[in-house]
Amino acid sequence: MKQKSINRTSRRNFLKGGITVAAGTVLGGSLLASFTKGKTEESGEKTKLLTPDGQLVEVDKSHCHECPGTGQAAREGLPNKKMVMVIDLAKCRNARKCVQDCQKMHNLLPPKEWIRLYLMRDSLITAPYWFPKPCLHCNNPPCVKVCPVGATFKRTDGIVLIDNERCIGCKFCMAACPYSSRVFNWEEPVLDKSLKKGPYSPETSVPPKIGTVSKCDFCPDMVRKGELPACVTACPNGVYFYGDQNEDAVTNGNETVRFSELIHDRSAYRFMEELGTEPSVFYLPPVDRAFDYKVGFEGLSDEEIALYKKEAKITD
Ligand code: SF4
Repeated sequence: MKQKSINRTSRRNFLKGGITVAAGTVLGGSLLASFTKGKTEESGEKTKLLTPDGQLVEVDKSHCHECPGTGQAAREGLPNKKMVMVIDLAKCRNARKCVQDCQKMHNLLPPKEWIRLYLMRDSLITAPYWFPKPCLHCNNPPCVKVCPVGATFKRTDGIVLIDNERCIGCKFCMAACPYSSRVFNWEEPVLDKSLKKGPYSPETSVPPKIGTVSKCDFCPDMVRKGELPACVTACPNGVYFYGDQNEDAVTNGNETVRFSELIHDRSAYRFMEELGTEPSVFYLPPVDRAFDYKVGFEGLSDEEIALYKKEAKITD
């Protein structure tokens, strides 16, 4: 059965309506109320905010008790949202554009990756297929439970984030994650000077900190702007669908479909469901593929191909 398209939409506009309203609500409500509380001593530190009519303004941080994307607002999440992702394994050809754009957006130097691409094979008599794995933003995340300092947290919009200003680098969360979705920042980050000077936000992980843990963050800063995550926009094959479960709509940038119909009609599953982690990422099985898995070897070195084959137990 084929899921019905809601409509075709631009990558940028899909989330725009809801998020603009959300940002406007924050700014128009509690934030603007904070401006009217009376005279506040200025800190000299500036931050940029988006006003309800779309203007970018610079204000002193002392006025901003609930700046979108920082402080408590970053820990709470976007109101009335529940972000989900659906990954269509039938379309993945290991193009790796998702990995590369994710690295670019989050200042990750290769080989550090927040999305890993595996060549999977369920049994020796079945065909291999490509399997992208970001953080699964579990609804019952073991990583959050073990953090001794509350540095990693689950928001109301379903996104699991890390506050690198709180992270003490104990790696308990890395050990607790059954999906190996987290990486350790062993090295000093190489950043543009302008980024180093900006205020830190767990929504962007910029500037990152040596000696802390990082992972896929579902690009909450992009969602807040009404745009799609880097991996969704970068994928040339429409593999990633992203959206709000409360609105029952997800998009890969070209096609927007009902989330409930997509996962029902295509028999979606969640990775290692038996663990009870309840991921927010759903996979569509790799059926009816119109290409051979070997297309994913294009551009790879012999060594890389041999490694993929070894992991998938391919001997030819
Ligand atoms: Fe935590 Fe791992 Fe689940 Fe991501 S995939 S939320 S890091 S347990």
